[in-house]
Amino acid sequence: MSVARRNRWITLCYLLCFSILLTYGACACLAQAQTQPQNPLAEKNVLILNAFESNIPSFEKTNQGLSAALRSGGIDIRNQFYEHLDLVRNPGPEYRKHMVALMRRRYVQRKIDFIITLFPEALRFLLDDGQAIFPDAPVLALYLPEGFELPKTKRQIIPHLIIPDLKRTLEIALNLVPKVKRVYVVSGTHPLDRWLDDKARQDFQKWEGRLKFRYLRDLPIEEILATVSGAPSDNIVLITAFSQDRTGKYQTTVEVGRELARVSEAPVFGFLDTLLGGGIVGGSMISFEFIGTKAGEMALDILRGTRYAENIPIVLEVPQLDTFDWRQLKHWNLSESALPTGSIIINREFSLWDLKYYGIGALAFILAQSLLIAGLLVQKRRRRSAEESLRQKSEELDQFFNVSLDLLCIANTDGYFLLLNQTWERTLGYSREELMAKRFLDFVHPDDLVKTQDAVSSLASQQKVIYFENRYRCKDGTYRWLEWSSAPAGNLIYASARDITERLKAEAEARQHREELAHVTRIATMGELTTSLAHEINQPLTAIESNAEAAKRFLSQDAPDISEVGQILEDIIRDDRRASDVIRKVRDLVRKEKPREEYLEINKSIQEVVAIIWDESLLQGLSIIMELSPEMKEIHADRIQLQQVILNLILNSAAALRNAPQAQRKIIVRTAMQDDRNVKVSVTDFGTGIDENNIKHLFEPFYTTKPKGLGMGLSISQTIIQAHGGTIEASNNPEGGATFSFTLPVQQGDAS
Ligand code: ADP
Repeated sequence: MSVARRNRWITLCYLLCFSILLTYGACACLAQAQTQPQNPLAEKNVLILNAFESNIPSFEKTNQGLSAALRSGGIDIRNQFYEHLDLVRNPGPEYRKHMVALMRRRYVQRKIDFIITLFPEALRFLLDDGQAIFPDAPVLALYLPEGFELPKTKRQIIPHLIIPDLKRTLEIALNLVPKVKRVYVVSGTHPLDRWLDDKARQDFQKWEGRLKFRYLRDLPIEEILATVSGAPSDNIVLITAFSQDRTGKYQTTVEVGRELARVSEAPVFGFLDTLLGGGIVGGSMISFEFIGTKAGEMALDILRGTRYAENIPIVLEVPQLDTFDWRQLKHWNLSESALPTGSIIINREFSLWDLKYYGIGALAFILAQSLLIAGLLVQKRRRRSAEESLRQKSEELDQFFNVSLDLLCIANTDGYFLLLNQTWERTLGYSREELMAKRFLDFVHPDDLVKTQDAVSSLASQQKVIYFENRYRCKDGTYRWLEWSSAPAGNLIYASARDITERLKAEAEARQHREELAHVTRIATMGELTTSLAHEINQPLTAIESNAEAAKRFLSQDAPDISEVGQILEDIIRDDRRASDVIRKVRDLVRKEKPREEYLEINKSIQEVVAIIWDESLLQGLSIIMELSPEMKEIHADRIQLQQVILNLILNSAAALRNAPQAQRKIIVRTAMQDDRNVKVSVTDFGTGIDENNIKHLFEPFYTTKPKGLGMGLSISQTIIQAHGGTIEASNNPEGGATFSFTLPVQQGDAS
């Protein structure tokens, strides 16, 4: 055995020990993953830090959207922590100190995983005073003024800037009230009010000449109201923001909006959705609830780690919503058709025609109802002939409703079902009479009671369509998950629910599968391989070494016995072969293990692997971009083995990117149909690339350029891909980095 060869064996042994240690670490990490609860977000804690008092309308609205979005992602109310710093009403360092102490007491023992701050003061409080209490959780900073400079810090801060578009409200208002001559613009004198007022003056310049503007800012509130109340009805009034008038009197925008609407002879428009319902017509609105919803969704995405990578700057952008109050449109006789398409209309009073918005089902439901009622009236007069017609109508109604897979119902806001379709019986096992005999809340799962009650009361008070989910008890005591869309009409609720139990089950199975995969990966990765390799190879290596020593001794004798030396060399060769056999055998393990093949969607398998990598935070500071073609045909393969290949390629790319500059730190995973019969998966990075001279050795066992590498990953990957009838190859990208790609045949019969 040559010295070089021997050195290689010794190095191998050394590396084996090293990888055993490494793999042990990875195993511990993966084992931990298995004990995670079903929904990985269920144990995450989110802190919402509001700079002001708890009852400011913008905060209440934000909170509504935020809380619902977080709950929908599995973050329960008990893991949402709302704190109101009330800093404006309590200026000064003493109070601040007191707040810091309070926060420390509340949170020092509790891990906060994500923080949402509301308004710049809360962000500053967090960074200046809360750093030690909340050291590293990422922050989503809501309601920062346009142009706000983020403080320099290592912590991830996602800004949400308020960039108001005031022009759009005026444009819409002019469409609705085309003959306007004069526009009154009402603002307060607080710096934030002034900032909006200045913006309005700038934005409205393009109408100067055509319209007359009167800016009512530097007046006491009484004078503002008096001026507006004298405005003729062909004018319009716009309110920007108002927290303080010229005399220093505090008043909220909502209060001032309400007062303006009360005294004004002309319609009032605005930009903040907190004004809606207080007598203003509407406008292109900054919607606090919508911002809350979007903030919640982004928090979920970041906590799941599926959409955003660390260190890649992101911002939260939320568009304004064109929102109008139906009652005010009617009051001012403004035409709905002049509103921009997609406008949201609140407080709509429902007519039969309007109910078309809630779906043909609901409309037909009511129509059929009217027919029934008409039938009943006829019955009064011509009882006998009407009886027949009523029976027919009732059958028609039943037929119509009972073909629907959804659970349709009419209920009243007192909590009773008035009408149900047959799907209820099929889904829950109760008869409709049984369901109507009790209040519907009696069937709701105890844990979903609060949200169901909330939904019913919002339906009654807000008169808008509401979507939510809850669990209903079946006659056999089990529960089904229902996904509701409900629309109010006076004291009635028209609702349709979809049974999503199976869908949720499938999602839970997918989650379980991910955990399973983590488990199998643990067993199947290098850990097991290296352990057996180390053990098996040690024996022939020791034998080779002692034989070589013996041969050396023999050769140093004066008259060496050549035949003896020949014998020793034979032994060395035999032991060497034995060692090679061991390695071959271990490699064969992968091949020999009967693949558990199944029909697979390759895109799904890739998404699962990427999710695991994120969960394990294996790729800190990198982003994975998935460009998965929707056209992929199914393949027939062993999912776990295939996912091992993908995992290996991604981890190799990550290793190649270790020292790459920030802008290059991304990995692109692509899928496409190579042709009719083969799918193609490629993993591209912008890392070191491959040494051109060694491309041909990449897939050989033990080829590695990493100081602690084993050089088995690609060799095993190739074995797996070839066993599935595919090919794997590697190349350098013209723009730098490498692309590894493999093809696999599509399932038989799927190829056309
Ligand atoms: P190991 O990762 O243990 O070295 P592999 O068989 O997975 O074993 O990889 C073999 C070698 O191939 C690596 O050491 C590296 O030199 C090269 N290689 C693999 N993937 C990449 C990549 N994405 N970019 C550059 N080189 C790569």
